[in-house]
Amino acid sequence: MLSDQQVRQKINQLLDYAQKALDLDPRDRMLKLNTLLDLFKQTAPAEDTPDYCDFQTDIADPLVQYAVDSGITDEASRILFETRMFGVVTPLSSAVTDKFYALQSERGVKSATDWLFSLSKANDYVRMTDIKKNIKWEYVGKFGKIGVTINLSKPEKDPKQIALAKLQPKSGYPACMLCESNVGFAGNLNHPARQTLRTIPITLGGEPWWLQYSPYQYYEEHAIAFSDEHRPMSVTPKSFERLLDFVDLFPHYFMGSNAALPIVGGSILTHDHYQGGLKVLPMMSVGSRAEYRSDAFPEVKFSVADWYNSVVRLTSSDKKQIHAAASLVLDKWNCWTDESVGVICKTTDQHNAITPIVRKEGDSYIVDMILRNNRTDDAHPYGIFHPEERLHNIKKEGIGIIEVMGLFILPGRLKKELAEVEKYLTGENTFNKEALSADDHPMRKHGGMIEALLSAHGSALSAKSAKQAVADYVNDACVQILECTAVFKNDEIGQAAFAKFMKDGLGLKRA
Ligand SMILES: [Zn+2]
Repeated sequence: MLSDQQVRQKINQLLDYAQKALDLDPRDRMLKLNTLLDLFKQTAPAEDTPDYCDFQTDIADPLVQYAVDSGITDEASRILFETRMFGVVTPLSSAVTDKFYALQSERGVKSATDWLFSLSKANDYVRMTDIKKNIKWEYVGKFGKIGVTINLSKPEKDPKQIALAKLQPKSGYPACMLCESNVGFAGNLNHPARQTLRTIPITLGGEPWWLQYSPYQYYEEHAIAFSDEHRPMSVTPKSFERLLDFVDLFPHYFMGSNAALPIVGGSILTHDHYQGGLKVLPMMSVGSRAEYRSDAFPEVKFSVADWYNSVVRLTSSDKKQIHAAASLVLDKWNCWTDESVGVICKTTDQHNAITPIVRKEGDSYIVDMILRNNRTDDAHPYGIFHPEERLHNIKKEGIGIIEVMGLFILPGRLKKELAEVEKYLTGENTFNKEALSADDHPMRKHGGMIEALLSAHGSALSAKSAKQAVADYVNDACVQILECTAVFKNDEIGQAAFAKFMKDGLGLKRA
């Protein structure tokens, strides 16, 4: 355990770091010093501030370890405590907002977001040490590249923590993970601490919204815009107004909304929010396979993106026209039925939905509208335009905005499980169909994959070839998952139905 003297020196080092990396105002140093002495139950500060090499391993980690060792906190609350500590030295919301807007007016909006993003990493709100553990690769398929990430950044909870979390009383505050009331929230075992979260007030469609970074960073500068009001997700013409306003404010970012229905929407349907960030998602780089024009919107170019699923792309430098055109596509798609391809817009519930993504290139707005449908039937209880059951070992959850644009976030459990699959191909594990289909077999869900791989490759591969074969299988599965989400399949019948929607549904002519 650290001595009192060492703890006090590390507190000084933490304050130096905060002044340098978090823009802590030196005028606040004394206040923060005394707050930290209180947090670490110290009676006086150290006189000196020794040099150090790495901030995380030399200062932050040992201070948190000291808090655990000395009983200030407990093992299960390690991250809660670390967030509390960083929260003390992170500037107040008012100072962060003032600095953000000062940078925007003096040096441009990119400087402002660069600064906020760097602050969000430096105070460990974005836990880069964890995010760097993710396994990422790219794969080039028939319609361009896709990205695959095995998400190892969410720390696994041990059974003891899970048991403790269950005992926590549920207060219903904050109402969800996105509400503005998360800023400064101390957290508990069921809800992350957010003392390090800083949000920037913005105006979208004349309404108060907030900008923050995603703590998970699934891609570069992964940002979130969320409504000041806790209200359900919805995609309406008003959404396009807000998304277009967003890219006017932040032309170096894209912004998009999940569809507002389960299965095709994101994990949070209870709070109206959008996801954006740098324009790096695979779908954005593909061209078009068919172009259309409209007499009603002469300034808007309509096209079908050359992508795995069904994307209507609008391009125009006329904000009013592109807004009206996007609203028309939404309106028409929401009630479009074409039984020849299984698209039924509504049964008892609404099934057609749109995932809109907006970005700006120069003066041009680009609105990508991914057509979705969440209908289920007896043969497809998880969704007709959802990954087939044979692909559920790779991804079973709803396919949201990030995935439909070609970036797959796969669960961390796959790291271990895929390594186990490889062992069947090298002969280290012996395939026994009966044993593998037992309810309690840990690899049961991968049975189909193992069988398919064995019949293609046999069981005498080298470790390297086995790894490649499994990666190829996962890549192909991701492409198939994307194709499952296509309401108009990439075959003759599907594309004819797509053309019919463009012409008859939207009243467009081939350009
Ligand atoms: Zn909320």
